[in-house]
Amino acid sequence: MERITYCLIFLVALLISVGLLRGVDHLLAKQVIARDAAILTDKFEHLIKTSAAELNELPEITFDSFVCSTEVEAQLKRAVFDASFIRWIGVTKGLNIYCESNEIIRELHDVKHHQISETYSLGILESESDQHLELVLIRNMGDIFYAASILPLEPSYFVPMSCEKCLEYRLSFDSSPFLTFGYESFDGDYYVSEAVNLTTDYFDATFELSGNREFYEQYTYFSWWIVLIIASILAAWVSYIARLWFNHSQSVHSQIIQGIKRSEFIPFYQPIVDSRSQKVIGAEVLMRWQRQDGSLMPPNQFIPYAEANGLIVDMTKVLLAHVFNDVKQLAVTREPLFFSVNIVPEHLDNDDLYQLLKGVVESGELKQHRISLEITERHPISDLVAARKMLDKFYAIGIDLKLDDAGTGYGGFSYVQNLGISTLKIDKMFVDTIGHQDNFNAKTIEAIISFAQKSNLNIIAEGVESHEQVAYLSEHGVYSIQGYVFSKPLSFDDFCAGYSH
Ligand code: C2E
Ligand code: CA
Ligand code: CA
Repeated sequence: MERITYCLIFLVALLISVGLLRGVDHLLAKQVIARDAAILTDKFEHLIKTSAAELNELPEITFDSFVCSTEVEAQLKRAVFDASFIRWIGVTKGLNIYCESNEIIRELHDVKHHQISETYSLGILESESDQHLELVLIRNMGDIFYAASILPLEPSYFVPMSCEKCLEYRLSFDSSPFLTFGYESFDGDYYVSEAVNLTTDYFDATFELSGNREFYEQYTYFSWWIVLIIASILAAWVSYIARLWFNHSQSVHSQIIQGIKRSEFIPFYQPIVDSRSQKVIGAEVLMRWQRQDGSLMPPNQFIPYAEANGLIVDMTKVLLAHVFNDVKQLAVTREPLFFSVNIVPEHLDNDDLYQLLKGVVESGELKQHRISLEITERHPISDLVAARKMLDKFYAIGIDLKLDDAGTGYGGFSYVQNLGISTLKIDKMFVDTIGHQDNFNAKTIEAIISFAQKSNLNIIAEGVESHEQVAYLSEHGVYSIQGYVFSKPLSFDDFCAGYSH
């Protein structure tokens, strides 16, 4: 079973890793393609600008006075020879050619034009022989034109390319494709496309670079083999970590279960003192894990796990057995004390805890002392009505409920209203703000105290560390103090030694 689980984890991790690696690769490739599209766009702009400047060098002509003399032909030839990107120049009007630099040109067919400036337009010219599309730059002089056939922009001159017939670019004005350039034929399907906006002094256009899968793959870093190898390593690592984590939590789990069997969860008692009389009036029962080697583990190292994994109820039973045993030993002459035990909502799901406490209360073994319950505001109670029903049973046998960590969770007001709370425990977080009056929390402590007083609730201040805090609290009518200012949580023997008189 375990094997199947790890195989599944491995497979899922493998699939996710492959997906991620391919995704990253795709993103990187797209970025590089976008960069190349930008380079080509720049080159294209340069090509048009240079050619326009070269056409501008030719003399201004008019249709009526134009004669295609040998000098004019020679002039056109020279212009083509000197130009960087022009391979043919013709003097044209409509579809007629009146003079040309060299006679390699096909007849002019219906030419698509796009005006790019006052005197210039771009045109597409189709040669009849090979259906090849050519870009022409046209200088307009009113009734006659210079038309220059521009060399196609050759991507492989500017960007690294090792594939053939794998790329195509399109130039669009106003979003309709104007010029498409490919390698005669484009092989396969489009796989990637990157569009760059081309804004020049002359015109605005969109330059779009598209490639097939072969083109895309020359931009990717990882071949399938590499992806598989890296993904397998990642997946193996993830399943290894999962195994470690599982073994660890298994061992925490089984150690806690062992601890329950061996009754290793013992109580420490933190005195709660009346600051007026300086007398102990009760104690909070705080769990410690006494390991076999004699060490004591603090609750933050195991309670969160126990609460999350349904172990806390049994641990509380172990703890309570110790508490009953301890309380039995207290002298009868002692002032009556309460012992506040931390519970979680799960304790109210059935009446196990109630039956246990009822048995002890009715046995009279606790003498004049009593047990009290504490529930934290931080844990949600899903069914307040059912919880209240259960709590009423506790109240009937003299066990009350305190609201722990008041003001820090979300239960607050509704818990007080619905659960029959007797006491609010003000959290250390608010007590810490005493003396810092400008702080927002400082206002909150006043609000909590006044809320409790108006609701006729008792108040215990928790985490009180200084006499200044004690003084502030007593000025505000709070006298029940729990905190290091009086005592840290103590073993039962120390508790008795310090406070048994
Ligand atoms: P908590 O219920 O809020 O308990 C008060 C914590 O504040 C205790 O920590 C206590 O030692 C500490 N404390 C009290 N006064 C002062 C002070 O003046 N200064 C400082 N710095 N700390 C102070 P502890 O014993 O480590 O317990 C931590 C938490 O573990 C408890 O917080 C409670 O949430 C949980 N816990 C302890 N025992 C049990 C238990 O039996 N059952 C459950 N469900 N949770 C428990
Ligand atoms: Ca508590
Ligand atoms: Ca608390």
